[in-house]
Amino acid sequence: MPSFCVKCKRNTDSINEVKSTTKNSRPILKSNCVICGSKKSQFLKVGKGLFNNALSNLGVELHLPASKGEDVPNGSFNNLNKYSYCGPGTKYDQRDKEGYKGINELDKMCKLHDNF
Ligand SMILES: [Zn+2]
Repeated sequence: MPSFCVKCKRNTDSINEVKSTTKNSRPILKSNCVICGSKKSQFLKVGKGLFNNALSNLGVELHLPASKGEDVPNGSFNNLNKYSYCGPGTKYDQRDKEGYKGINELDKMCKLHDNF
């Protein structure tokens, strides 16, 4: 595939393409410039890695983001754009006392679920 050649200062076609990995085990494509013969290397895109998975696992510590929050008089979770009931660690009793109903069907289901 064409890649940037530092000598030609532009993208050129490549010959002798060899897939390899760096010390950090990142996939890399080594080749030679078809015009000047200089060595070229380019990092290849990788899909979702361990880091992203770790991030999504961290998400369970937080309340799920929601498109709109709930607003009740004297409520302590007003306009946080979070589900009132969905998510672990939800202060169910406090929210129920303050009058939160759940911001949508999913949230209401969480409320029921938490109740039993
Ligand atoms: Zn070149």
